[in-house]
Amino acid sequence: MRDILNIRSITAYRLALPLRFDFKTAKGLVRIRETIVIRIEDIDGYVGYGECVAFTDPFYTAETVEISWNKLVEDYIFNLRAMRPYPLENYMRQLQMWLKRDAMPMTMAGLENALIHLSCSRKGVNSIAHIMKADLVNTIPMGVVIGDIPIDEVLVAVQRYVEQGCERIKLKVTPRDGYERTKLVRSAYPHIDLAVDANQSYTYDQLHDIARYNDLSLKCIEEPFAIGSLEEYRQWRAEQGEHWPIKTPICLDESILSCDDLSYAIEHGLIDVANIKVGRLGGLMQTQGAINLCREHRIHYWIGSMVESSISKMMHVQLAALGDSYMAGDLSDSSRYFERDLTDPDISFVDGRMTVPTGAGLGVSVLEDRLLDYTIGTWTL
Ligand SMILES: [Mg+2]
Repeated sequence: MRDILNIRSITAYRLALPLRFDFKTAKGLVRIRETIVIRIEDIDGYVGYGECVAFTDPFYTAETVEISWNKLVEDYIFNLRAMRPYPLENYMRQLQMWLKRDAMPMTMAGLENALIHLSCSRKGVNSIAHIMKADLVNTIPMGVVIGDIPIDEVLVAVQRYVEQGCERIKLKVTPRDGYERTKLVRSAYPHIDLAVDANQSYTYDQLHDIARYNDLSLKCIEEPFAIGSLEEYRQWRAEQGEHWPIKTPICLDESILSCDDLSYAIEHGLIDVANIKVGRLGGLMQTQGAINLCREHRIHYWIGSMVESSISKMMHVQLAALGDSYMAGDLSDSSRYFERDLTDPDISFVDGRMTVPTGAGLGVSVLEDRLLDYTIGTWTL
């Protein structure tokens, strides 16, 4: 009965991972990434891990570590643990119901990943290859995100990554000097794949500032506008009529929190390129739906990632190995982010490429000792 999951225990670990750079939060700069890892073990000793990638503060989406932790320990873990042994599909149905009811995609993704990796470990198959019904390519290219660092340091940073074999650069931009820094990089590297991410920092009034990027041959501009809701954005776009001045493909990230959002954005022509992140979309089932939706409607997709441990990021490495993404993902060495990451192997590129781990489940081992080293709280049932 390999298909039946008979759960022995579920543990949530609240972690504080030391970072190698200053991370901006509402409370100022910190060098810690708080996160939650979920471990599910079955009665045969198989184990699956998932990560809930909500942040400490609600700057990216409304879900936070604290909200997620409380919901896990007060509700989800108890109710999951109380379920009788079932095939994976039954658990997935339950999770999808909670996802619809509570709209906590990152929390649900953490639980779902752990269940899928557990089930796929039992079956001896890789989770991403299994869920996406596809073979993975052997290696993926590196793609680096360069934060909003001082403009006179940008070219030095780009040069360092290009020398490491990076084939795609994404710059974080704001109305302050976003165009200028992007132009600087484009002038120095006329042929590199270049994209920008504004993280909703431009207002609708700044439409023509976004149009200035037209001449920089960008792969895309990610989340240019401070969108209140997709509905409001659709209305505003409609008001612009025939005079839409932006030629750069528009990529959406944080405004797409589910397949339904993506479907809406596609239907109303609001999106040219989709950034795919497992946590933000609510898990692998939603991710599979989103990628298939893009393929069906000929919308480009590519694989993003966040400041997250390799327990979550490794799935993005494998998704980038599906072989039909629009450009290299936001995927670069673990050592850029963390003093020590949580899996063996972690994420590392040689000459700009990484060999994709395709073992059973998550495909890599989770370092349990290291997990405990960084744990600041646990909850087990
Ligand atoms: Mg983004």
